[in-house]
Amino acid sequence: MRKITLSNGSKVEVDCLSCAITGGSMKPDGGVVMETEFFHAHQDVAYPIKGLIILASKRHVTCLDELTEEEQLDYMKALSKIRKAQRNVLGIEYVYYFYNEDTTHHFHTWMVPRYQWMYDFGRSVESVRPVLLHARNNMNDKENIQEVMNAINSLTKELNKGPSL
Ligand SMILES: [Zn+2]
Repeated sequence: MRKITLSNGSKVEVDCLSCAITGGSMKPDGGVVMETEFFHAHQDVAYPIKGLIILASKRHVTCLDELTEEEQLDYMKALSKIRKAQRNVLGIEYVYYFYNEDTTHHFHTWMVPRYQWMYDFGRSVESVRPVLLHARNNMNDKENIQEVMNAINSLTKELNKGPSL
């Protein structure tokens, strides 16, 4: 078991955070943004950044090459669909994608939007950790949390609307 700090400051103990979230035993802030046959998308529970989405596999696998062909296709489609929604609904111009296989929980990709303020922390990969910590430590105010929740709602609506005729 490991302790995880949520964006609201509370701590939870889980074996695998991804399993807890995709399996429904832990409800991420704002709920499920989108679900496919093999994947599950939610706002990152640790960092209050608008449109920061985690796309996690439902199956407990660790490495990219463990995905079946069906899962690979579903993954790429889901990733693209969320990316498009981030652009259309939140005006997000660029996104950084991260996935490291040596985490203690299972396959999940971070989709980290780039906002103007983030460039104060540099460009590219070295800026990401400081950006996330800045958000967690300095952006937990009521106003920003409300904006994050509004963004989740907009994305959820966009990603779950029926096909247009
Ligand atoms: Zn898992």
